[in-house]
Amino acid sequence: MAPPPCRSQPLLPDSNVLVLEAVEQIEDRILVFARVNQYPSCPVCRTPSGSCHSRYRRCLQDLPWQGLSVQLWLTLRRLRCRNPDCPRKIFCEQVPGTAPRYARQTSRLSEVVRAVGYATGGLPGKRLLERLAVFVGKDVVLRHLKQEAAVERVPIRNLGVDDWAWRKGQNYGTILVDLDRHCVADLLPDRSAETVAAWLRDHPTVQIIARDRGGLYADGGQAGAPRALQVADRFHLVLNLSGAIERVLEEHRRDLTLLPPESAASSDPPRGDAKPTLHQAHKQQVRQYRMERYQWVVELHQQGYSQAAIHRETGIERKTIRRWLRSGQFPERKTPHRRPSKVLDWEEYLRRRWNEGCHNATRLFQEIRQQGYPGGRRMVAIVVSRWRKAFTAKQTARPQRISPKHVAILIARAPDKLTPENQYLLDRLEATCPELVPLRKLALEFQAALTSKNGLAMIRWIEMARHSPFGPLVRFAYGLRKDLSAVTAAVETPWNSGQVEGQINRLKTIKRQMYGRGGFALLRTRVLPYATSLTFQPVAHAP
Ligand SMILES: [Zn+2]
Repeated sequence: MAPPPCRSQPLLPDSNVLVLEAVEQIEDRILVFARVNQYPSCPVCRTPSGSCHSRYRRCLQDLPWQGLSVQLWLTLRRLRCRNPDCPRKIFCEQVPGTAPRYARQTSRLSEVVRAVGYATGGLPGKRLLERLAVFVGKDVVLRHLKQEAAVERVPIRNLGVDDWAWRKGQNYGTILVDLDRHCVADLLPDRSAETVAAWLRDHPTVQIIARDRGGLYADGGQAGAPRALQVADRFHLVLNLSGAIERVLEEHRRDLTLLPPESAASSDPPRGDAKPTLHQAHKQQVRQYRMERYQWVVELHQQGYSQAAIHRETGIERKTIRRWLRSGQFPERKTPHRRPSKVLDWEEYLRRRWNEGCHNATRLFQEIRQQGYPGGRRMVAIVVSRWRKAFTAKQTARPQRISPKHVAILIARAPDKLTPENQYLLDRLEATCPELVPLRKLALEFQAALTSKNGLAMIRWIEMARHSPFGPLVRFAYGLRKDLSAVTAAVETPWNSGQVEGQINRLKTIKRQMYGRGGFALLRTRVLPYATSLTFQPVAHAP
């Protein structure tokens, strides 16, 4: 039972050309029948033709409707080319606004498939689309995804560049990030100065290149965009400094030990307020609740309410109200009274046996039970465990070694970012290893130079470090001097590679989402921003 032909057809992909004829439902599919109303031209000689040779049906999958798959059945013509000079005699009518030649999905469905594929990948995309009543294979999803979108090329001014591991330790690629638009500008399949230089020559608008401290991208930038300003990344600078300090401390590893607290010069470390236990927090909460209710009652009483009225207002028992008002102060809960444990009567004996070397709670319990101890084993075990804790603490108190890495991190930390514990640790270490004092001074001055926005401060620091007695720091300073323009640019300009690191994280997520099986082209497509203006160009047909 076909409905009458419908004149207004905004639901069809190209309502200027397609004319709806009928709609049918067969099981879970909607079939939409349409014919074409146009005057097509020969694809070879472009001569318009209205001479029909024959008709055929073409089926296209379209956007689903109400959770049902939709098939668009088009009645199309084969036409004769009447131009006697044209080698083509017969050609098939095309509907470029609906679908490209040979396609089995409408363009608008292809766009959806592509978007789903971009977000999820091939096989997951296929499964998701199945739930949305779009039936395509995983290879179709990937094919749509890899189709180059016709996007407008925007000039890139500020570029971030770094490497990413295709397989860690084995092969690496290069990621280029548009720092202004916060998106990946391109992905290169390898890590070499030549590839980066070639890319930069192809993008002459780049003015700033933010990079890490590796020499490779410095050379690539110099070769490909000699007029662009290179900026070393501040985070990497701090990281390199930390590495240099660590190498200095490696040489003083022996001095980085803490004596046990009893023999150390100072007393216990300062502790912040201890966090209350769960039980204490709960008790505090209950007390707060009672306090609020007590204050409520007192307030009402002061306003002249009778006890009965207070009871009606608050719902608190009259007995309680009377007691509270009589006592005249907030009635704290009494701490429950505990009988002293019976085991204390045998404490002297237990202590003597402990000192003789008997540390076994069960044996001690058996011994005092024979002497008439009426209690259980548990109380004995509690007493003994307390002694054992103190005993083992004494046993294990020996000099504590601190790793150079840990100390390097502490040294480079600003004073206002050190916790009291850290400060205490650093003070104790400085007592055993006096080299830490000039090292910390250098580290803090480096940070000050880095945040000073003044390149001269950094140059001064480099000179200072070059004349310091620490070999690794001298080498670090020489390295900075070699890369001076990028280092001073790091101090003076706001650019850094933070975004690039974030994009690398995104890349890793996508790479692992594909279980490391996706190729470079697919990875590149999914890392680059999604191009929405996809236009399907009809494939040029060979005569
Ligand atoms: Zn022709």
